[in-house]
Amino acid sequence: MEIQFFEVNGTKYIASFPRDWIDDMHNYTGPDTCANCKIYGSIGDIFILFCANCAINIYHGERGPGTDRRCTEALAISVDTLYINLEDDLTDEEEI
Ligand SMILES: [Zn+2]
Repeated sequence: MEIQFFEVNGTKYIASFPRDWIDDMHNYTGPDTCANCKIYGSIGDIFILFCANCAINIYHGERGPGTDRRCTEALAISVDTLYINLEDDLTDEEEI
């Protein structure tokens, strides 16, 4: 599987990662400031999802399930679908 990604300030994110979450990144979460996010939440140097600690304690499950082990391709595919659905939901709400 070749993961599509985009890059912001030198950090790579899976292509479906919601852009709003990067603009609104809580301090000490995410691949730039949380070692667990970087190690567990990434495949290669591409950030896929938050670590379980950030996902549960900081974001209360609103930004994906989080992972407490190294991200697998299967997990990447499942959160990819999740993110795309989330974006669709947000878009739908804006159109109403
Ligand atoms: Zn984290």
